[in-house]
Amino acid sequence: MNEQRTGAMADAGLSGRDIAIVGGGIGGLAAAIALRKAGIDAVVFEQTSQFARVGADINLTPNAVRVLDSVGGELGSRLRDGGAQPQFRISRMWDSGEETSRIEMGRSAEERYGAPQLTLHRGDLMSAMRDAVPDAWMQMGRRVQSVEFGARPTLIFDDGSRHDCDVVIGADGIHSRVRTAMFGPENPEFTGVVAYRAVIPRDKVAHLPNMDSFTKWWGPDPDTQIVVFPLNRGKEIFVFATTGQPEWTEESWTAPGSIAELRAAYTDFHPEARTLLDACDEVMKSALYVRDPLDSWTNGRGVLLGDACHPMMPFMAQGAGQAIEDAAVLARCLATGDTTAVALHRYQDTRRERTAAIQRGSRSNEWLKGAGNGDWVYEYDAWSVPLGAAAQV
Ligand SMILES: Cc1cc2nc3c(=O)[nH]c(=O)nc-3n(C[C@H](O)[C@H](O)[C@H](O)COP(=O)(O)OP(=O)(O)OC[C@H]3O[C@@H](n4cnc5c(N)ncnc54)[C@H](O)[C@@H]3O)c2cc1C
Repeated sequence: MNEQRTGAMADAGLSGRDIAIVGGGIGGLAAAIALRKAGIDAVVFEQTSQFARVGADINLTPNAVRVLDSVGGELGSRLRDGGAQPQFRISRMWDSGEETSRIEMGRSAEERYGAPQLTLHRGDLMSAMRDAVPDAWMQMGRRVQSVEFGARPTLIFDDGSRHDCDVVIGADGIHSRVRTAMFGPENPEFTGVVAYRAVIPRDKVAHLPNMDSFTKWWGPDPDTQIVVFPLNRGKEIFVFATTGQPEWTEESWTAPGSIAELRAAYTDFHPEARTLLDACDEVMKSALYVRDPLDSWTNGRGVLLGDACHPMMPFMAQGAGQAIEDAAVLARCLATGDTTAVALHRYQDTRRERTAAIQRGSRSNEWLKGAGNGDWVYEYDAWSVPLGAAAQV
């Protein structure tokens, strides 16, 4: 049975298309926000019945913050209210503590890139983004089971209900049903790496240097590192540690880890890094999965963004940032007078090379270990980058 259209669905907005976004995570909400800025209506179908404050942190680099700032309204100020602005991006060696790179961020990044780096609780980002999407666009507790690409795409939900539309945006994460419907099943690859995440009150570690900065302690191999940065206006410190552990495969934002295991994994690290781990009372643990870059992001009426399309290792802190950039470029493409197929291919052609380079860079984990700057990642402006050629249409 086809459901009743809401007012927002009935009015397909400037694009003249009914647009369904599957997934209301960072990428799906960013798509809704960007489409709204472009004057295009959409509906977001999110499987959870309410947003949970899971996942602890998010590190939003200037390229991502700039996209959200450009939307206007309260979004930019909400992010700044709950966030912190790391003063430097520092690289240090795990054993000697030697500093191999120090890049000025804070006000200097804002002057250089037009937006700051913001580190904040993931829940604060999600609620600020959710509040920038009209209520009439949000359909919570709607889990998409599959998508039929007939004369018009049809979403089929777990409860058997159906929704016809003109364009399906698959923003449903690494296990994307939309991706499977478009290109067939293919499991993501377990990397053999686990991530530990902990938040500690700053008071417990205030005696350590650089607590107002982002510091990456580079480990003895590319999978092993400890990253530290401030959250919540600097009142809390976030600790993000990764290491190889091929026997642990659980992918979760909420699974608890063992503090003893965390500390044991980094016993050879510099005393300052170990002091941070000693200050952790609780830790969450998750296995990391990736996919290789995709050749095709669209079948002409369905299109992918964010982790549904290009999940990556967190070593360049770009997963959410790339989803946010995708959203702005996709909205711009859908706002052109192009046919749907041309607009979606134009989006793919604009975004594919950059995201593939960042996926590969995140996998090799060498970026900013030594001298250099973050320009090629941070100065990208998704609202003004030239749009691609739509070569395959
Ligand atoms: C440990 C770790 C640390 C990270 N740190 C950073 C960082 O500091 N900076 C950064 O930029 N990125 C970071 N990332 C990456 C970032 O979290 C992801 O890239 C980002 O969340 C992707 O957003 P998304 O919306 O594409 O997917 P998701 O966040 O996975 O959201 C998908 C949404 O779709 C919904 N959904 C799924 N299936 C269905 C369905 N069938 N029907 C309806 N709804 C559905 C889900 O409930 C969810 O809300 C990190 C990742 C990890 C694992």
